[in-house]
Amino acid sequence: MARVSIDTVRKVYAGNVEAVKGVSLDIADGDLVVLVGPSGCGKSTLLRMVAGLETITDGTISIGDRVVNDVNPADRDIAMVFQNYALYPHMTVRQNLAYGLKNRGEKKDAIDKRVREAADILEIGDFLDRKPRQLSGGQRQRVAMGRAIVREPAAFLFDEPLSNLDAKLRVQMRGEIKQLQRRLKTTALYVTHDQLEAMTLADMLVVLNGGRVEQVGRPLDIYRKP
Ligand code: ADP
Ligand code: ADP
Repeated sequence: MARVSIDTVRKVYAGNVEAVKGVSLDIADGDLVVLVGPSGCGKSTLLRMVAGLETITDGTISIGDRVVNDVNPADRDIAMVFQNYALYPHMTVRQNLAYGLKNRGEKKDAIDKRVREAADILEIGDFLDRKPRQLSGGQRQRVAMGRAIVREPAAFLFDEPLSNLDAKLRVQMRGEIKQLQRRLKTTALYVTHDQLEAMTLADMLVVLNGGRVEQVGRPLDIYRKP
């Protein structure tokens, strides 16, 4: 795991839309930072710039000791978990988990071991041979997390990962994510618009508004204020 630094980052989209207006943010090694704020405040733009899915207009983003502004998404040593799971439908769970490692040219034994470990952690070992469509929403989301974990990335990026789940499952899964984070001590940036999710998960909470950081603090300090 590694720290992530965002230094005076700006994003101007075509049409002169300034979505992110000079944001600086440090995510300490092993911390889970949650980004919250009203729709359109720039959360997803910021996350996508860290992922490399969006160019950076100004400023610097580092992962570990490396400035990644010009580094391809695939070479940034991050793993992203999306709300729509993004699983490969024609592959089994096992193949979904193994796919990225195979592409990297890792040996079969090493892949099998990492897939088994991730399956244990996420309790998806019983359906490794099923296809995504044969799984429930919660199970699919676990597989999506498994696919991120097996990569052993320097940092995780979560883009509203639970927002497609029903309320009950959302509560359950956010508890599981918290446990997972404690266990793996993952450095993570997590975007949500759900206050309870933010409260439960965050080591540090960042409130964005109109493309700027409005508040930074521990969840209780931020939500206790009037
Ligand atoms: P959030 O994730 O907080 O809802 P976004 O980062 O998606 O906010 O959007 C921030 C601002 O940038 C909004 O005003 C949005 O309309 C604008 N925006 C997002 N993506 C684009 C784009 N591809 N082109 C132009 N403007 C965009
Ligand atoms: P590599 O091992 O070279 O990163 P993969 O085969 O694992 O390549 O993935 C192919 C592409 O999909 C790469 O751009 C990789 O970054 C991306 N990718 C796959 N899974 C994830 C994930 N969970 N998070 C972020 N990117 C991913």
